[in-house]
Amino acid sequence: MTENLMIIGSGPAGLTAAIYAARANQSPLVITGNEIGGQIATTNEVENYPGFVDGVTGPELVQLMQKQAQKFGARIEMDYVTGVDLRARPFKLETQNGNTYHTQALIVATGASARKLNVPGEKEFAGRGVSYCATCDGFFFRGKEIAVIGGGDSALQEGLFLTKFASKVHIIHRRDQLRAQPILQDRARNDPKINFVWNSVVKEIQGSAKVETLVLENPRTHALAELPTQGVFVYVGHTPNTQLFQGQLAMDAEGYIQVDARLHTNVPGVFAAGEAHDHVFRQAVISAGYGCMAEMEAEKFLAELAHTSSHPV
Ligand code: NAP
Repeated sequence: MTENLMIIGSGPAGLTAAIYAARANQSPLVITGNEIGGQIATTNEVENYPGFVDGVTGPELVQLMQKQAQKFGARIEMDYVTGVDLRARPFKLETQNGNTYHTQALIVATGASARKLNVPGEKEFAGRGVSYCATCDGFFFRGKEIAVIGGGDSALQEGLFLTKFASKVHIIHRRDQLRAQPILQDRARNDPKINFVWNSVVKEIQGSAKVETLVLENPRTHALAELPTQGVFVYVGHTPNTQLFQGQLAMDAEGYIQVDARLHTNVPGVFAAGEAHDHVFRQAVISAGYGCMAEMEAEKFLAELAHTSSHPV
């Protein structure tokens, strides 16, 4: 059987595309990826998604979007796409669960993943003090001193969240100016549990059974320092989850999919939505908007296809 429209990814972009497609009677099939919801599902508090005056947790927001899509008939499969063939239509997709799908149109909403520090000790201590998800792991650090790496919105937002558990949160930033939005900067600077460590990059994460020490380097003077810590939360940006499409979809040097103003990729019938192509805004609400746009374009593409096949030239 050939699907009309498949969506890879279940963050705000993928689920919004699913809501719109389901309401347009396209009966979309969403392949979620490893976890439903993508990055927003690991965010504790979302305060700037319109409509939620008192904020909403990431997992709750995802659950609401999922329910809304399913209410209109979207099918959501917990599976992971391992291979795609976009050389001819219908496009072919293979998944971890051993399924093969064919689809006339495809929306790529695979998002982005937390960037790693790539320093000695990071891999070794993953799950033993090194984490990329405060919502998931913050609870394990009750009463402990921890470090958050990064100076953007994620580092400050998650650092503030971690003060609920930790006795001290050291925010380690490679410059002496933060990238984060002013409201988060004000909150962090006024939080007595937060200590900023400026002009410092992580050289190494050391410990025995668990993390014990961070070796820091001043990028200008190259002076080294040690910071005792029991946890390290890494928030140094993201890389797009687009490896699957290498050699098939046009991408920039960093791996972001290249799209036109209507989210068409270089392959007719394949659209991209969200952080797989957007390295500028990276907001849940914007990804949701992109999901809507991509679906509307996919619908137009499918309508033209149906018209051409019923009126061959
Ligand atoms: P980001 O804005 O790209 O910030 C990454 C931070 O990590 C920057 O401060 C950067 O330093 C630092 N960094 C990068 N590579 C590093 C390395 N190798 N070692 C040390 N530090 C490194 O990423 P983000 O904070 O994850 O935010 C991503 C997007 O999501 C942004 O558009 C943000 O606005 C959005 N977001 C919004 C909210 C919200 O609205 N509440 C919450 C979370 C995220 P430099 O500053 O020196 O480059």
